[in-house]
Amino acid sequence: MTNKWIENFEKTKQLTKYVDIKDATKSDYEYLGFRCGLEVHQQLLTEKKLFCRCPAGMYHDFNDYDAEIIRHMRPTLSELGEYDGTALMEFKTKKEIIYRINKKTACTYEMDDTPPFPINKDALAKALKIAHLLRMNIVGELHITRKQYLDGSIPTGFQRTTILGIEGEIFLKNKKIKLIQFSCEEDSCREVSDFEHKRVYFTDRLGMPLIETVTYPEMLTPWEAEEACQNIRFIARSTGLVRTGIGAGRQDVNVSVTGGTRVEIKGVAHIKWIPKLTHNEGFRQKSLLLIKNELNIRFKDSSIWEMTHKELSLNELFTIKLNLCSTDDKQATNFLNIESSKENYFNMYSIPYINEEYKIIAINLPNLKGILSFFTQPYRTFADEISDRIKVIGCVEKPNMIHNEFVPFDTASNYKERLSFKISNDLGRHPLLKEMYSKIDWIELQRILSASENDAQIIFWAKNEDIPTVLDTISERIKLAFSCVPNETRKSRPDGTNIFERVLPGPDRMYPDTDSKPVSLTSEFIDLTKENLPETLSYKYEQLKKWNVPEDTFIFILRHDLTPLIEQIVNEFNFSYSSVSILFGQFIKNLFGKDIVGTSKSDNKQFIFKMTYDLCKYMKDEELDFYIIHKLLKKAVNSSNLNYDDLLAKIGFKRYSKDELFEKADNLMNEYDTLPKKSSNLGAKQRWVMGKIKNFALGNINLTTIAEYLKLKGK
Ligand SMILES: [Zn+2]
Repeated sequence: MTNKWIENFEKTKQLTKYVDIKDATKSDYEYLGFRCGLEVHQQLLTEKKLFCRCPAGMYHDFNDYDAEIIRHMRPTLSELGEYDGTALMEFKTKKEIIYRINKKTACTYEMDDTPPFPINKDALAKALKIAHLLRMNIVGELHITRKQYLDGSIPTGFQRTTILGIEGEIFLKNKKIKLIQFSCEEDSCREVSDFEHKRVYFTDRLGMPLIETVTYPEMLTPWEAEEACQNIRFIARSTGLVRTGIGAGRQDVNVSVTGGTRVEIKGVAHIKWIPKLTHNEGFRQKSLLLIKNELNIRFKDSSIWEMTHKELSLNELFTIKLNLCSTDDKQATNFLNIESSKENYFNMYSIPYINEEYKIIAINLPNLKGILSFFTQPYRTFADEISDRIKVIGCVEKPNMIHNEFVPFDTASNYKERLSFKISNDLGRHPLLKEMYSKIDWIELQRILSASENDAQIIFWAKNEDIPTVLDTISERIKLAFSCVPNETRKSRPDGTNIFERVLPGPDRMYPDTDSKPVSLTSEFIDLTKENLPETLSYKYEQLKKWNVPEDTFIFILRHDLTPLIEQIVNEFNFSYSSVSILFGQFIKNLFGKDIVGTSKSDNKQFIFKMTYDLCKYMKDEELDFYIIHKLLKKAVNSSNLNYDDLLAKIGFKRYSKDELFEKADNLMNEYDTLPKKSSNLGAKQRWVMGKIKNFALGNINLTTIAEYLKLKGK
């Protein structure tokens, strides 16, 4: 049975002119009025935290803690007489926030029971070095400020931060991007879990020094955004003064389109996610603008729009054939596929749990037909905007609602695409919703709600105490659709879409930190940090171009800052720039991709780079030809024995002189002529001989020498 709302989804997708990113061109982003800005964060490699003397970079298991502190958020009026949106939302969620503390990595400072120590000078010096490379104007005096953080990720509710430089710049392939500012600040807590009304954080990461680079929103395509982010990261890494590996670098990505809003996608862990994420966010905003237009056509006066709702009685649940049964509270709700008689049905629901704790509410949305199934992102509709908020603000885990315009998104034709999208959680639950959806008698529900033909309906389920918040949340989200793309922070998903995280706080609330004195930056100190700066990124780009290195190797080489090492290998051992660069940028990159010996860990990566250098040296000493290094390296990373003589024997290497190899080649050519199935084609003969002799020649002489010899003989 085809679902009629798929048509609406496809039609509205076309309205937004959505294209897959691989087919998108610059003109698609011009049409959107796409703009993107970045806040790039990276942990500094220091021994201690920024404002206390606890160690930095030491992490604990989630269950390895000495104490827990519980906090509840309570909003208070700001100095302007307003409540902060984030604080208010966090209050609404009635979250219990728990901090797990291990005394090895946190002290009373992190809990705001002790004033800050003077700022960590080592962190400052390291940050300044990076600031110079970003061509920042360095400030003369540091003012430490408190930036309000009301999402719970910092126990004190604020983060200490200080601006080191303003108005810097970086250079992309085809344009210059201006940087607003460069700061040094404290990292926040690590989130351990977030379920229903309880969120748990670990405080080991809290207070570690972090640098933040903020760009102007000057990136006009998703690829420029990716390039700019990579560029900023490469520059920081080239100093060797920042931490690398999972969690050490994160970025917030801001996207807006013409008529839209600056939406912040927080904590993007991988740069390679940026293009798809920003692409989808641009089109999401476009579709919300189209929804707004549509609603403004339908409603002359949107301010009087109100939804109605009704708690469904057991009798009504039975009449509309909604089979919904709770098995345990972890699972939230579970659909039972029972064609029940009325008695069975009531028995099922006589489980006290669902009677007393849960309610099922039906909502009628006047004249909203076609909006819930309106496209917003790949495999996501406007209804998801609502469901996401119910999860975050109402704390009702998904699946938390069903609606009459449900699109199952599980047609056979898109199966492959869904797999490649890695759509897991949400779609994994869709079979349940799909079955529920097909059983519900929506006509009967519309009768119960006295709905008209152009209305839409939602059914949600929640614990009694959460129902007012959920109702507010739904009403609020729909009313926002009449006027704007809501101001919110969103969270990236691996499939390239994003989901609601929280309403955007007001403009950054910054207060001077009364506990810290200003720190003047003397010119001696600044000059000191200018010493031994690594080469600039644009210099390294030029180097790679000059070396005639294939472009597909650039990113890997720059990301791991390998140009100095390549230069060293070439200078010391006299191999060619291009072959050494290809070894790193293609062969070693592939080794890492297969993640042998845990190369996802940065220590192991450095170990393999070092080993490559050692192997090059060994080959030079032993007068081996360069191209055997691939085999050797592959053997070496898979072996615990690092005696290179042994490795060489293991891959079956034997020494042959050039003359011996030529003689072998002659013999092989004669052998070919005696083959029963030989071809008269000379090329075929040479390939056959090459195939046989390759293994003997590898490491002894360059294969092109053999090829040339064969050609000569063939004449
Ligand atoms: Zn501490």
